[in-house]
Amino acid sequence: MVEVFCPKSLEEALSIRAETAAMPFSGGTDLMVRWRTAPGVLPEVPRPLVLLGHLKELQYITENREYVTIGAETTLTDICRSKAVPVLLRTAVCQMAAPALRNLAVIAGNIGNASPAGDAVCVLAALDALVVLSSASAQRELTIAQLITGPGMTVMQSDEIITEVKIPKVQRTHLFYRKVGTRRANALSKLSVCADALIQDGIISEVRIAAGAAAPVVIRSHDIESQMQSMASGELIQQKQRFLDAYDGLIVPISDQRSTAAYRRRSALNLISQFLDTFQQEVHSCQQCC
Ligand SMILES: Cc1cc2nc3c(=O)[nH]c(=O)nc-3n(C[C@H](O)[C@H](O)[C@H](O)COP(=O)(O)OP(=O)(O)OC[C@H]3O[C@@H](n4cnc5c(N)ncnc54)[C@H](O)[C@@H]3O)c2cc1C
Repeated sequence: MVEVFCPKSLEEALSIRAETAAMPFSGGTDLMVRWRTAPGVLPEVPRPLVLLGHLKELQYITENREYVTIGAETTLTDICRSKAVPVLLRTAVCQMAAPALRNLAVIAGNIGNASPAGDAVCVLAALDALVVLSSASAQRELTIAQLITGPGMTVMQSDEIITEVKIPKVQRTHLFYRKVGTRRANALSKLSVCADALIQDGIISEVRIAAGAAAPVVIRSHDIESQMQSMASGELIQQKQRFLDAYDGLIVPISDQRSTAAYRRRSALNLISQFLDTFQQEVHSCQQCC
């Protein structure tokens, strides 16, 4: 017999977490798979649960001048439908699972699962998103890199809940998202890359590159990105191999039922290379205008 709490409000949910450390349960699309046993047999739930997916006060998408903010219990379907959500996140979420699952699964579940192959996690890392963790007595904001420390591991405390995700609004000229999966629907990523850049007058002002399922946590290197910044896009393309070699040094993939480590490494580098190749258009347009 499992103990299940069904709070009427976030406040009640937070006090249940503080008193019992019951496990957050949102859409259950990760948890029910994790706990399944044999076909036709009820899943084995190891600890008390606190249901969160029905809490309307955590279902919203808002924006102001600085951030797009997504309530933790917003479904993937609602994220797909919202024009306020940054294109890269919408693109990734619309490719996750399949419509029926997206109606149940929420953004906090993808983050809380802390899988290296979590598609929203990879995009949120690229977009410098802040994950808001709340407890009955405090609130804190962490980046994906600060929150997720390994496969299935986070620094979330037993009295905390993810309550929202804040995505800084920025101007970008180049957007890139590719997911490599066995098929288009209902397939977890073998590998994914999310990246963007701001190129002005042929000079790279900003660039962000994240790779999912290529290491125990999403790969993002501020060091490599800062080396790219201020370069002319043509110069970067000439030096592309140097940057690919640097990313190669960060990739630590595993072989599992979905893919081999070698395929993941090759695909990650190919996708980063494809993203950098999109800067070629800047070189052409700059040459035309000069
Ligand atoms: C057939 C199938 C296909 C899938 N395809 C994809 C895919 O393409 N890409 C992908 O990334 N994933 C995929 N998934 C995985 C899953 O659907 C997603 O990770 C989804 O976002 C999980 O959300 P959920 O609400 O169902 O999470 P749940 O299963 O409810 O929870 C997952 C984890 O997050 C924690 N959690 C939930 N809510 C909170 C909260 N508010 N605060 C703190 N922790 C919380 C839970 O305790 C648990 O550890 C797939 C799953 C299935 C079964």
